[in-house]
Amino acid sequence: MPTPATDTIAAIATPPGRGGVCVIRVSGPRAAAIAKAVTGQTPKPRHATFARFRDGAGNVIDEGIALYFPAPRSFTGEDVVELQGHGGVVVSDMVLQATLANGARMARPGEFSERAFLNDKMDLAQAEAVADLIDAGTTQAARAAARTMEGEFSKQIDCLQDELTALRVYIESAMDFADEDIEFIKSGDIATRLRDIDTTVKKITAVAGRGRVLNDGVAIVIAGRPNAGKSSLFNALSGRESAIVSPAPGTTRDIVRERVTVDGLVLHIQDTAGIRPLDDNQTHARIEAEGIRRALTGVKKADITIWVRDDTAPADTNEPAPIQAASLLVVLNKIDRSGRPPGRHTIKDRAVKNCQGEVVAIAVSATTGAGLNALREEITRRVIGEDTGENEFSARRRHTSALEQTQTHLRRARRHLEAQLKGAGGGELLAEEMRLAQQHLSEITGAVTADDLLGRIFAEFCIGK
Ligand code: GDP
Repeated sequence: MPTPATDTIAAIATPPGRGGVCVIRVSGPRAAAIAKAVTGQTPKPRHATFARFRDGAGNVIDEGIALYFPAPRSFTGEDVVELQGHGGVVVSDMVLQATLANGARMARPGEFSERAFLNDKMDLAQAEAVADLIDAGTTQAARAAARTMEGEFSKQIDCLQDELTALRVYIESAMDFADEDIEFIKSGDIATRLRDIDTTVKKITAVAGRGRVLNDGVAIVIAGRPNAGKSSLFNALSGRESAIVSPAPGTTRDIVRERVTVDGLVLHIQDTAGIRPLDDNQTHARIEAEGIRRALTGVKKADITIWVRDDTAPADTNEPAPIQAASLLVVLNKIDRSGRPPGRHTIKDRAVKNCQGEVVAIAVSATTGAGLNALREEITRRVIGEDTGENEFSARRRHTSALEQTQTHLRRARRHLEAQLKGAGGGELLAEEMRLAQQHLSEITGAVTADDLLGRIFAEFCIGK
């Protein structure tokens, strides 16, 4: 049980600047007393009460609406008062000062949400979704955040938790029966139950991965040999002339970035220095080498690496991508000169390092724009998949990593189970891996969370939220 907060916090909850209305939010044990001191009355719970707001000397500062939500039926779970006054920079600050003069202190960023979490009004994933809804850059991202805020993601995690708990109870009780272990485990069909849990975790991870991308956008790095047309493609995709296009190889030495929205998806596109072997030690080569180093670092972090090839260049100059990117997408550029039809192709050469089979390549012309729509479609298909159904929810990288950790421990648990079924023992290891899997799952909703993590999460919120 969390210890209830003893102090009362206040903040302006509306954005800074001029506006029709400004909301000053107060939460904590002194909220009602502060409302009385500022408005001269205790507002009727959950009713809009017209009131004059006064400073410590009794002078009228503003007039507006006072709302009172007694604990626990409030956003934070504490007594909450909201004073809605006129939205001027000075006047709203004067009302805030009046609440502070009567015993409130300035709230830290995200402190209202943190209290809501600590008072079990919502779990951590839901609290984070409130911030993501506020920050949403596209309609799809806002819809997904609203679903997580409503508990869609948490509900699926909670179901999994229940199944894991039931299975752990079974396994741990089996361990008390020493000799009958194997029979006990066989009769409980643990292997099937564990496999089902694993499948569910994988499904949730896939949806959460898409939700993470909706939230954060997709990090796309454009890489390739010098002169393949990377900067031209970057400019064509971003609709701007941010990157320098030049027939001289090695012109892009630093990373150039743009933010583009495609079908409700935010793409963070980076142009990079052409990747090529450098052999001389001159200053310009050293600068270019640094550019190449940055390009390779960008590739490691990217969700998608677009590997641009010059489709007019002879095959032997088109070496395979010297990088192993998480998601490599080959683009064949300059088809206005090579004559290849625009769009999706499967090519069967060594376009990707260590890849023997066929790879998908999109044929485009950065100059004429042919094939660019097919490229955009391929990008959205890779990150969102075909399924953009109603059950999408938003997620953060923190959540997807926790799900990946859960998968790792479930995989190990299955290995220990196999050993156990072969009579090789290992029941304790199985139980331990199950415990760890569950612990990582708990981090998502915050059932188990380190304090410093909470601090970091809520510090990113805005003041008044
Ligand atoms: P980067 O070094 O890979 O960034 O390549 P740039 O974008 O600077 O382009 C190198 C050269 O190829 C420039 O002269 C471009 O005008 C030319 N180029 C780029 N894309 C195309 C294309 O689609 N068609 C044609 N014909 N030329 C292109």
